[in-house]
Amino acid sequence: PLSCFQVIRCRAAVAWAVGKPLSVEEVEVAPPKAGEVRVKIVATGICHTDEHILEGSFPDVDFPVIPGHEGAGIVESVGEGVTSVKPGDKVIPLCLPQCGECSFCLNPESNYCLKCHVSEPQTVLPDKTSRFTCKGKQIHHFLWVSTFAEYTVIPEYAVAKIDAAAPLDKVCLLACGFSTGYGAAINTAKVKPGSTCAVFGLGGVGLSVVMGCKAAGASRIIAIDINKDKFAKVKELGATHCISPHDFKKPIQEVLTEMTGHSVDYSFEVIGHADTMTAALVSCNMNTGVCVMVGVPASGSVISFDPMLVLSGRTWKGTLLGGWKMRDCIPRLVASYLEKKFNSDVLITHTLPIAKVNGGFELLRAGKR
Ligand code: NAD
Ligand code: ZN
Ligand code: ZN
Repeated sequence: PLSCFQVIRCRAAVAWAVGKPLSVEEVEVAPPKAGEVRVKIVATGICHTDEHILEGSFPDVDFPVIPGHEGAGIVESVGEGVTSVKPGDKVIPLCLPQCGECSFCLNPESNYCLKCHVSEPQTVLPDKTSRFTCKGKQIHHFLWVSTFAEYTVIPEYAVAKIDAAAPLDKVCLLACGFSTGYGAAINTAKVKPGSTCAVFGLGGVGLSVVMGCKAAGASRIIAIDINKDKFAKVKELGATHCISPHDFKKPIQEVLTEMTGHSVDYSFEVIGHADTMTAALVSCNMNTGVCVMVGVPASGSVISFDPMLVLSGRTWKGTLLGGWKMRDCIPRLVASYLEKKFNSDVLITHTLPIAKVNGGFELLRAGKR
C-alpha cells in the first residue's frame, strides 16, 4: 500500500517528435490518483496503429508521447475509490474503455464508450494531467494505456481483470489485434456458415479476421496481400485461396468477381487505404454483401464512391476493436483462449526486449511480422 504514494522510475519508449525513432528513456511514473490504477506492463504487442502515431497520422496525438496499446500486466497499486481490481491482479489495459454509465455503454448493441479517444482526448488522464515525466518534461499518454512503459497509470474503467492463469506474453494480443480481427468477422460482419469471405491485408489483424471467418464456418476465404510471404501462415489458418493484386493487370475486384460469380458475401479491408476500402466495397455481393472497414485511414482521408454500390443493397460498416464491449468481453476472450477455442499465439513472430522496440517497428515496416 505504501507504494501508491511513491513515484516509480522505470524504462519507457518515448516518441519525442513525429518521424523520429522511439527513444528508450528512464521515466518517472506518478502514483495513481482517485479512480486510477498503476499497472506493471509485462508484455506488449506492436500494432500498425502505433506506427500511424509515429508517422504523425493523427494530429490529435500530442508529442512527446509514450505509445503502445496492446499490453497486459499486473496491478501494482490503486488510487482512492478503486474497487474492481487490487494489487497483484492480472489485467489487460483497454484502449477502448467501458465506463458503464454513458448512453453508448448502456446500449447493448454498442461497444463505443463516450469516454473513448474519438470523443475525448486521451493524451492526458481524465483530470487533464499526465502521470509521466522524463528529463523534467511532461510526457503524454496514448489512448490512456501507454503500454510501451514498464509502469503506466490508467483509469479504472479502462482496465479489465483477467484470469490469474493467463500467460501475459500471449494474451496481450487480445488487447487489440486479435480481438479486432476476430470480432470484425464474428460480431460486426456476423459471417454465416457456408459463406465466402475476402480479406484485404494479412497483418496481425487481417490474420485474425481469417481466424474469425473460419470459426464462423465460412467455406471459402480468399486472402489478399501484396506480400506473398504472408500466404503460408494464412493458409494454415483457413484461407482457401491467396492472391496478390500485383499478379493481375485488372483490378482485384474484377478478379474476385470472376473467382466467385457474384462476388463475396463478406469483404474486410484491413490495411487502411482509401483505394482498397473502395475495392473491398465493390468486391462484395451487390445486394446482400457486407463490407467491413477495419484498417485505420490517415486522418483527413476522403473516399468518393458511386452511390449505386450501396443503393443496390450492400452494407458498408466499420468496426472499433471488433465490436466487443471491452471490459465485459476481454475477460471472456481470455477464458476462451485458455480453453483453446482459438490460437492467437500464431500471430507472435518475434519476442524482443524493450530496448529493441525500434527493431520491432523495422520488422513491421519490412512486413516480417
Ligand atoms: P500490418 O501492417 O501488419 O498489415 C497490413 C498488411 O496489408 C500487410 O501485410 C501489407 O503487406 C498489406 N498491404 C498493404 N498494402 C496493400 C494493398 N494495396 N493490397 C493488399 N495488401 C496490402 O497492420 P496490422 O497491425 O495488421 O493493422 C492493419 C490495420 O488495422 C491498420 O490500419 C491498423 O491501424 C488497423 N487497426 C484497426 C483497428 C480498429 O479498431 N478498427 C484496430 C487495430 C488495428
Ligand atoms: Zn491496435
Ligand atoms: Zn461509456
